[in-house]
Amino acid sequence: MPALISACQGTADTPTAVPTAPPPATVTLTAPPVVPPSASPMPATVTLTAPPPTATPVPASATRPPPSATPGPPPQIAVLAYHHFGVPAAGEYDCPLDQFEAQLRWLKAHGYESVLPQQLVDAIAGRATLPPHPVMFTFDDNNGEQYTDAAPLLEQYGYHGAFFIMTVTIGKRYFMKADQLRDLERRGHVIGGHTWDHRNMAILTPKELQFQLDQSEQELNDVLGHKPQFLSYPFGVYTEDVAAEVAKRGYHGAFRLRDPHDPQVAPPFMIHRQIIPGVWSIEDFADTVHSMEP
Ligand SMILES: [Zn+2]
Repeated sequence: MPALISACQGTADTPTAVPTAPPPATVTLTAPPVVPPSASPMPATVTLTAPPPTATPVPASATRPPPSATPGPPPQIAVLAYHHFGVPAAGEYDCPLDQFEAQLRWLKAHGYESVLPQQLVDAIAGRATLPPHPVMFTFDDNNGEQYTDAAPLLEQYGYHGAFFIMTVTIGKRYFMKADQLRDLERRGHVIGGHTWDHRNMAILTPKELQFQLDQSEQELNDVLGHKPQFLSYPFGVYTEDVAAEVAKRGYHGAFRLRDPHDPQVAPPFMIHRQIIPGVWSIEDFADTVHSMEP
């Protein structure tokens, strides 16, 4: 598919005005430039042994994953983040389906069971016990091939995941439609929020933040009949204030990416995820899964 939009690829620091009117009927979003992973503060004990994945395809054997960026508080489990499927492995936001299936096959062969966000949050609170080898699959942005290609494959292996929806895209070309989101939920997956149009929540004014959350919650409520209980921060970026606002609204948890662990934020509102680039070998994948575990 053309690079119509790869929301998570954008830079996270572009201040933008929040529309005060209802969303326009036609949304034009330009593909932002591909940027390398931002340099987030790393724990002193982590040594970078190789550059992070680049946009240039390289032999799998030549790639090594970066260290799992910023593991959070327990329970530490592998929470995997995906964006696009079925496209050549051009960078960290694209995972070809055969690579994805190889990862599923490896996880299944090694006894992994998928858990959903509520199970993880319950485990963090001490209300539940996770299976011996838990893994969580998360999918950001509402890309259409997540429904047509990734979800059926996931289910073939007995797994379920959480899909975080940038609601402005619902029903747009290349994105999932309302009935597909309802279908995913009916099949046991979780549909969560990812704001209305993917702004960096950390730099929004309070009014803009309210708009992004109000709008996406309303639209998901219209589609699903209930508000989302989980959210992934666009670009993985959060602050103490953003996390507090999300918690105040009744979400049960929220997911970050590279942003470091913030001891001031309740653990369920800064659950760490790792993007799985399509250029990784299965050995890279396995190393990363293990690196996220205790
Ligand atoms: Zn995103």
